[in-house]
Amino acid sequence: MTFLSHYAGWPRWQPKILIRAMSMSLMGMILILFVIYFYWKREGLHQITDGLMISLFGVTLMSTRGFRDWMIQIGVPLALFAGAAFYLRVPLSDLMPFLFGPMIMVIIGFLTSEALRNLSINQFLTKQSLRQLATTDQLTGLMNRHAFLPLIRHEMNRSRRSKRYPLSVILADLDHFKHINDRYGHDVGDQVLRETAVRVTASLRQQDVVCRWGGEEILIMLPETTVENAMTVADKIRRALADTPIPTDRGLIRQTISLGVARFHGEQHPENLIKRADEALYQAKDTGRNRAILAPASKAVTTSD
Ligand code: GH3
Ligand code: MG
Ligand code: MG
Repeated sequence: MTFLSHYAGWPRWQPKILIRAMSMSLMGMILILFVIYFYWKREGLHQITDGLMISLFGVTLMSTRGFRDWMIQIGVPLALFAGAAFYLRVPLSDLMPFLFGPMIMVIIGFLTSEALRNLSINQFLTKQSLRQLATTDQLTGLMNRHAFLPLIRHEMNRSRRSKRYPLSVILADLDHFKHINDRYGHDVGDQVLRETAVRVTASLRQQDVVCRWGGEEILIMLPETTVENAMTVADKIRRALADTPIPTDRGLIRQTISLGVARFHGEQHPENLIKRADEALYQAKDTGRNRAILAPASKAVTTSD
């Protein structure tokens, strides 16, 4: 069970508790067998103890990870064993046959557990990097649309339940970005996009979530943020670009950004909320770009919408 819970992830019992239980039974068994051996010196007893200890040591070692586990599993029983042997004044020559099997098992178990540990670490890392690939935009390092949607749904639900959690979104789009690509090439365009992502992220708080929504569109979710505060953030982002040109392979490039800000009004689907931010963004483009516009409060949004 200990082995399964460690390496197969099944069943979901606490491996630590099982390890301790196993260690206790191992210690008890060692002492009892030791006492039986000492007082009755039964023929062949040590073969039985060898067998028992070999299997116990084997399985426990394989499921043991880290120094603490090792001390509990191996250190304490061995110390008890040594203490008992010393107390009962058992000659060393009598102890050797006892210890030979377990010692071999310690070595085999150690090698096996190390191999298994490496295997599971590698599996873990592979899984992590696959997940990372699936949820991250490779160019900007921002979260992608696919990863963003469940998060905004979650926040929308929370905000719908409590008036104390206002929720705002900002949809941002680079101004005349096509010109950058046409004039300097796609690689320079990519550099501008990357730097934009850095500056947007730097303008946000820890709990804000930013995602690459489309080509050069960035969508930001601001939990527990009133629309007034969201407007302040939007303007901070706007200035972060407008005030400082972006260094690229083709020199400094001036790049501005337009933003549409919307407050969550109980919309049922993220698309409806984002659409309102998009309309505000369109207005920002229409009225001269390099600005943030607030979407009007939606008219008759009901929770059953
Ligand atoms: P405006 O938004 O101000 O109206 O003008 P715009 O020129 O930015 O308009 P539009 O949204 O039509 O152009 C977006 C451009 O972004 C077109 C596309 O080539 C470029 N783009 C999209 N994704 C990438 C990308 O990953 N890298 C680069 N270099 N360019 C991209
Ligand atoms: Mg654009
Ligand atoms: Mg665009």
